[in-house]
Amino acid sequence: MRASTVRWLLTLAVAVTCLALGRTLLGGAGAAAGAVIVPTLTLLLVALAVDAWVLCPLAGSLAATGVSLLGLGWAWAARQAPAFGWQMAAAGLLFGAAAWQRRLRDRRLHRLRQALDDLQEQHTVRRQAIALAGQTSEGLRKKLARYTQLQSIAEELSNLTDLTAIATVAVERAFALIGKSDLCLLFLVDPERQALALVASKRREAMPSVRAKHGDQFDRHVLRTHHPLLVNDTRRDFRFTVAVSREREVGSVIACPLMAGQSPTGVLRLDSASPGAYTQDDLRFLDILLDLVGTALTNARLFARTQQLAVTDSLTGLALRRPFLEQLARELTRSGRSREPVSVLLLDVDHFKAYNDTFGHTAGDLILRRVADVLRAVVPPGGTVGRYGGEEFVVLLPKLARPQASEVAERVRRSVERDLQGSPREAERRAAHAPPGGGEAEPGEGVTVSVGVAAFPDDAQVDLELIRTADQRLYQAKHAGRNMVISS
Ligand code: GH3
Ligand code: MG
Ligand code: MG
Repeated sequence: MRASTVRWLLTLAVAVTCLALGRTLLGGAGAAAGAVIVPTLTLLLVALAVDAWVLCPLAGSLAATGVSLLGLGWAWAARQAPAFGWQMAAAGLLFGAAAWQRRLRDRRLHRLRQALDDLQEQHTVRRQAIALAGQTSEGLRKKLARYTQLQSIAEELSNLTDLTAIATVAVERAFALIGKSDLCLLFLVDPERQALALVASKRREAMPSVRAKHGDQFDRHVLRTHHPLLVNDTRRDFRFTVAVSREREVGSVIACPLMAGQSPTGVLRLDSASPGAYTQDDLRFLDILLDLVGTALTNARLFARTQQLAVTDSLTGLALRRPFLEQLARELTRSGRSREPVSVLLLDVDHFKAYNDTFGHTAGDLILRRVADVLRAVVPPGGTVGRYGGEEFVVLLPKLARPQASEVAERVRRSVERDLQGSPREAERRAAHAPPGGGEAEPGEGVTVSVGVAAFPDDAQVDLELIRTADQRLYQAKHAGRNMVISS
């Protein structure tokens, strides 16, 4: 039963008992009946009032006590019975005991309330701690997910050797993992112009394409300081001018330098139209990502350089014999299909041994470099020049038949004869080594070359045969007096 119902019933019982007592006293019940009913009703009233002390709030208990004392007083006044004396005393004792019980109960209740409050406080603290732990674990989960993704990016990048592919992976992954961005741009430093050049970009749909292909104030700032940059609100950051971009809104930016050792080789940057889009955590993550991208780019450059070195002669910068012959074979296959001519020139520096003996090997190297320069300058676009070995050079001339190839060969011969004659250092060396009293022309006085020309399909059908024919004609040129071109 509910407490309020009990209270109402008790109040009702007190009221009913009061009424019954009043009626008995006023109705003038017989002395014998009155002697039994009145004390019974007054005792019932006292008992009910005592109960009220235990069950009702203070105001209710006081009211019930007042009513029952009034009832007792009235009954005593009406009857003047001596029994009411001990009845009153008993009522007083009962009220005292009830009040004592009530005090004890209130104290217990108070302690219970305090314990309940303490429990509620502990509950709130625990709930807050759980919420905090939840947030921390969510943060850690996100971090873990990001680092797992970094690991997979590292693996992906380690398989790439192409610069463009690496740049594309970098912008796409940064855009997806950091999120919140309108645009992600990767700039690399163009060594010739010493300025940034856009190499890869990723933008949100509906964003206009990027026109600032050489970076803006944020990218240049990162390039200058070599430090990661976080701009929370571009309008409030005193380091930058307010007019950020004419093409689109830029509210916040994060950018990191791409380092190769101590020097910056590029910048990767993300921006968003809303201010405060990025956190320090985002910047840290981007920095780690750029470490991976920087390593991948360095490896790709080394790989490209190694590949280049494997096919290039280090002294002259020309193609080596093997890659040259591979290209010749490919060219002959292509020309066989398209029925176009291909010509080959084989050059040999005249009296080169004597030149070395006279001026030294280092001077000889310089001559080889200068012959290579002449060849690069004279050979028409589309042609390939190679160092065939020692002081022999070879030239592939696609789409040129023998007469045109002979003209090219003649131009090379003439250019060598003219350009390698009279450099000041050459003249100096010549003067230093001139025999006393002059004498006849020495080898090395002027560098010349002999050239053999062979053409596909007239002279040969396969690559090695074509080279052999050119070599035979070169041999003929040597025998005929050197510094000449033989093409038939
Ligand atoms: P020829 O007119 O008949 O071709 O006479 P040559 O002296 O040029 O012919 P030979 O084949 O006897 O000599 C080639 C010389 O080229 C021998 C070698 O010392 C020199 N040579 C080969 N490779 C290099 C090189 O890389 N640097 C220098 N300085 N000399 C080289
Ligand atoms: Mg030779
Ligand atoms: Mg020679």
